[in-house]
Amino acid sequence: MKVGFVGLGQMGSGMAARLLEAGHEVTVYNRTPEKARPLVEQGARPATSVAEAAGGEAVFTMLADDAAVATVTRGEDGILRHLSKGAVHISSSTISVELSESLTGDHADAGQTFVSAPVFGRPTAAAEGKLFVIAAGDSGALERLTPLFDAVGQRTFVVADRPSAANLVKLSGNFLIGSVLEALGEAMALVEKGGVDRKEYLDILTSTLFNAPVYKVYGGLIADRRFAPAGFPARLGLKDVRLALAAGESLRVPLPIASLLRDRFLTLLATGGADLDWAAIADLASRDAGQA
Ligand code: NAP
Repeated sequence: MKVGFVGLGQMGSGMAARLLEAGHEVTVYNRTPEKARPLVEQGARPATSVAEAAGGEAVFTMLADDAAVATVTRGEDGILRHLSKGAVHISSSTISVELSESLTGDHADAGQTFVSAPVFGRPTAAAEGKLFVIAAGDSGALERLTPLFDAVGQRTFVVADRPSAANLVKLSGNFLIGSVLEALGEAMALVEKGGVDRKEYLDILTSTLFNAPVYKVYGGLIADRRFAPAGFPARLGLKDVRLALAAGESLRVPLPIASLLRDRFLTLLATGGADLDWAAIADLASRDAGQA
């Protein structure tokens, strides 16, 4: 397929590389142009503007946050103005339910289709094509896009024909991961202060009742206090907790643990941790216990 890719950060660069490897004709754009170079060496076409990247049957966006996606979509040079009628904007960034809903309307008004396809998995999974894609939108469009989703992910879950449902699922998932980070941090602070080795403790957890990727992957980072370089920086973690809280407020669903996580992330950011991996919130419990 002829497809554009806008946003070649930690996640987007791996996803675009997988699309190329799968044989798609990929045109790439990134605000900071140097990041496109490795992909161009792999056969991607370089675009000098978002408009140029939006010339195919579909264009992915994989950008930091709502503000970036809104700018790239609605700007003078943006996707809305330059995507052909009948073509699809695939939004893979973790964005708000609210922005997803308004972009769905904007694209429909322009005769285009907007689908949400946020992903679970860190940059290593993106580079290996092992993401989990949570897709929602027009079923015919999702069907046509299946080869693209298959290239970037190991499995695609279609959740609804309303794109924002996928964003809600993604945000709820990140809220759950954040909860695990906080709980693991508290548990490790407790056992460590009582004289138990953190790595041995993690081995007990993951060999018994907590044999899941979220405990293994994040538990390893937390036990080793390996928070740099960040696979997913704390500032983006705070963004996702805020978006989950906003979705809860809009649907009148109290999320008391998310409120606590918001404050934990604020503490981490206020004490110099914005660019550490978001797993670093786990270490706040050790700090509170006089251990870290
Ligand atoms: P990243 O490495 O920080 O990349 C962010 C991208 O957004 C870069 O291409 C950046 O361009 C671009 N960008 C930021 N502001 C922009 C603006 N105003 N205009 C145009 N481009 C802008 O982030 P990432 O880890 O790839 O994450 C991307 C998205 O995926 C986020 O929504 C994140 O929450 C989500 N996500 C991340 C992970 C993870 O583990 N990292 C996992 C799942 C989902 P420059 O290069 O010019 O700065």
